[in-house]
Amino acid sequence: MYDVIIIGGGIIGCALARELSRYNLRLALIEKEVEVGFGTSKTNSGIIHAGHHSSAETLKGKFEWAGNQRWDDLACDLKFGFKRIGELLIAQKPEDLQYLQDLKKQGEARGVTGLEIWSPKRIQKEEPNLTHTIIQALHAPTAAVINPYEACFGLIECARQNGAELFCGRPVVSIEQNDAGFSIQTPQRKFHARIILNAAGIFADRIAAMVDADNFKIFPRKGEEYMLDRRLQGIVTRLIFPIPSATSKGVLIIPTVDGPIMVGPTAEDVNNREDLSTSFAGAAKIFASVRKVCPAISERDTITEFAGLRAVSNTNDFIIEPSPVKGFYNIAGIQSPGLTAAPAIATYVTDMLRAEGLALIEKPVWKKDIDGPPHFARMTAKERKAAIRKDPAYGRIVCRCESITEAEILYAIKHGARTLDGVKFRVRAGMGRCQGGFCTTRIMDLLAQTLGVPLHKITKRGQGSEVCTPRRDDISVEDKA
Ligand SMILES: Cc1cc2nc3c(=O)[nH]c(=O)nc-3n(C[C@H](O)[C@H](O)[C@H](O)COP(=O)(O)OP(=O)(O)OC[C@H]3O[C@@H](n4cnc5c(N)ncnc54)[C@H](O)[C@@H]3O)c2cc1C
Repeated sequence: MYDVIIIGGGIIGCALARELSRYNLRLALIEKEVEVGFGTSKTNSGIIHAGHHSSAETLKGKFEWAGNQRWDDLACDLKFGFKRIGELLIAQKPEDLQYLQDLKKQGEARGVTGLEIWSPKRIQKEEPNLTHTIIQALHAPTAAVINPYEACFGLIECARQNGAELFCGRPVVSIEQNDAGFSIQTPQRKFHARIILNAAGIFADRIAAMVDADNFKIFPRKGEEYMLDRRLQGIVTRLIFPIPSATSKGVLIIPTVDGPIMVGPTAEDVNNREDLSTSFAGAAKIFASVRKVCPAISERDTITEFAGLRAVSNTNDFIIEPSPVKGFYNIAGIQSPGLTAAPAIATYVTDMLRAEGLALIEKPVWKKDIDGPPHFARMTAKERKAAIRKDPAYGRIVCRCESITEAEILYAIKHGARTLDGVKFRVRAGMGRCQGGFCTTRIMDLLAQTLGVPLHKITKRGQGSEVCTPRRDDISVEDKA
């Protein structure tokens, strides 16, 4: 019997797991995918929003600024990529100027620091590659970029070292309420818990419906993103935002934490919760919009693309509350700025559980930080020599584009990577220009050898994304029959 089970290992579930791991609780997280962070939390823009975007009347507004301020410490403790690069929200039409003023006022009212209106002259000086038709911009220095998947891995690793248990590849298929709490059925086994925290992202309404038929609804809204070649690195140095629309913050230019520029996302309501396709129409929309702001950016520079699904709730706001079923809590409808807000949401939910009567007794020892992966590419020549002397696997470069060594890949596998994406998102192997063209087979070999599984069982991101077919010798007698 667990005290608390979290369903869903996105940024919200992982942040909750770390926060609750401070206390004497039997705590577990159940995730349907093969690794944490493989839902919406790995397919977003990776922006820690500056704190002024969402209206004060909403939960989004309540948690955006509070969450923003928590990321410096988290990045330092959990060793993931994070940079406060600031943002410029640009106006190209006189009728948009009032919006900049209103947003500035909204941010200042909640204490967002450093907001400034910039003139065209200042914009040109700071970001010379932007179009000259910008008439004003709102600068927000508190905006930041992070590697969201690294944040998920760091949060869960910290939670696990403090006693939380993680069960991946376990889709929750039904929940039964009983006198002691809940029985949670997955295909492999049943789990029992006194309290359930539903953090299942775009499937949160389906999980809630397992205990309470009359609940909220989630509507998936797709966003496509396009990653550009390193050739364009530095073309802008801050996040560039247009005036937002009713359904999204618009198409952004994003200098990612590792350097390359990303552009996107689109905002398209879809019915299929598995639809992660990208499209010519999406690309055309994004590049037409981006070119109006930064003419030198072209679709020809795209090296890879992906899509993510925002979990838009029927209230169009976060839903963070106890359900009518005692012991079952929803943390749902976490669309943007959900990544930004995650640490603040985790603290809020912990306080909510305490207020509802859960005894939260702090552990005498709670380790807030983790070692984090080594980064050969960032070492000095002297550090590299010493690393190779200590472990010759540092002398074997596997991913040539990003200079990722065998030692780093083995570190990723030791720390939970089970798939090519798991390795890629932990240590960047396969993330460069060739997108794994040269290193995929070598990484598959390392995964297969280290995990002791045949090569054909290695997947890109879990079952159904196998990369190769079994060799004759690997096919069992039954399979042959
Ligand atoms: C294109 C795009 C761009 C965005 N950009 C930003 C941004 O720049 N900044 C920002 O702050 N926010 C951004 N967001 C929003 C942000 O990504 C989300 O708010 C956040 O990732 C939501 O996290 P989550 O943990 O609620 O959901 P998820 O990451 O989806 O996690 C839910 C988890 O639950 C699991 N699950 C589902 N069903 C089951 C089941 N039956 N059993 C077990 N597990 C289950 C899923 O596999 C998944 O891993 C963006 C979103 C999109 C789509």
